[in-house]
Amino acid sequence: MIFVMKPGVDKQRVDDFAKQWEQKGYSTIVSVGTEHTAVCLIGNTASIDMDHAVHTSDIVDYAKRVTEQYRAVSRSVHPDDTVVKVKDAIFDCHHFPVIAGPCSVESEEQVLTVAEAVKKSGAKLLRGGAFKPRSSPYAFQGMQADGLELLKIAREKTGLPIVSEMMNQTQVPLFEEVDIVQIGARNMQNFDLLKAAGAMGKPVLLKRGLASTLEEFLLSAEYLMCAGCKDVILCERGIRTFETMTRNTLDLSAVPILKEKTHLPVIVDPSHGTGIRSLVAPLSRAILAVGADGLMVETHNNPKLALCDGAQSLDLEQFDGLMTDLRRRAVLEGREI
Ligand code: PEP
Ligand code: MN
Repeated sequence: MIFVMKPGVDKQRVDDFAKQWEQKGYSTIVSVGTEHTAVCLIGNTASIDMDHAVHTSDIVDYAKRVTEQYRAVSRSVHPDDTVVKVKDAIFDCHHFPVIAGPCSVESEEQVLTVAEAVKKSGAKLLRGGAFKPRSSPYAFQGMQADGLELLKIAREKTGLPIVSEMMNQTQVPLFEEVDIVQIGARNMQNFDLLKAAGAMGKPVLLKRGLASTLEEFLLSAEYLMCAGCKDVILCERGIRTFETMTRNTLDLSAVPILKEKTHLPVIVDPSHGTGIRSLVAPLSRAILAVGADGLMVETHNNPKLALCDGAQSLDLEQFDGLMTDLRRRAVLEGREI
């Protein structure tokens, strides 16, 4: 149940109101918006007499029942967009930050070459997997902790904040200095990992599971927010369907639906979404057009020799061309890349 406060009610009075419900055994989420402040009750609210609750308080405007299972991520609880800012990258409808970098960190030379080039082309964040979730145990598993150190060197050299995937909660100490912690598609419903990542006090980029519904995706984001994370970025990366010509089917309808249901920023990864290099640029244009809050693109200095996901990686020149094209289109929409 959500109580929407009358405009201009003092924050202290709202907190006192929330506390009264907590004393009755409910958990609460207080959401302060530009127009309205809302208090969301969590618990069994079926027996609450809504009219009575509204009429006995002089600060409540109205109350409504929430039908969705998720609360903290819900736009009905928090109508304003959440804007996630990480250094110069602003994930919102006025900007279109691009995260670029290799699937995996492979060497100092590779990650520095890519970092410098993507920075020059206009990327706002550097990505790179140090711990890789691979289908085959014989495939390259990533450089692990050494890979994270190389990302930090690249950050120092370029100023680009870094994004990397954390695969389990024992890795939390290693990720303390990473700017955005990525939770990969295969781990979207690893609830212990979500709780640990959400409690780290830093932004989390949550990728949609290979076979997850959007409701499950939002519920996983709810785990992150319940653990204390305010800066959750959702990333659509394609889902498994009967189609075999592409690695996954990139569900672009997810973007506008998610933006109706949640206040969190939504970005898209067309690299994993298609698995095919030539599809990355056309889909990136579609991703901008559909209103996503950002883009993540795998980029490699020599895709033919990449240890992971070379077939879907742009080379540095292709990435630069894509950025020039996107910049031109973004300007027409009044958005900054
Ligand atoms: C990745 O971003 O490198 C990755 C492994 O992505 P996903 O979890 O979407 O497969
Ligand atoms: Mn990859």
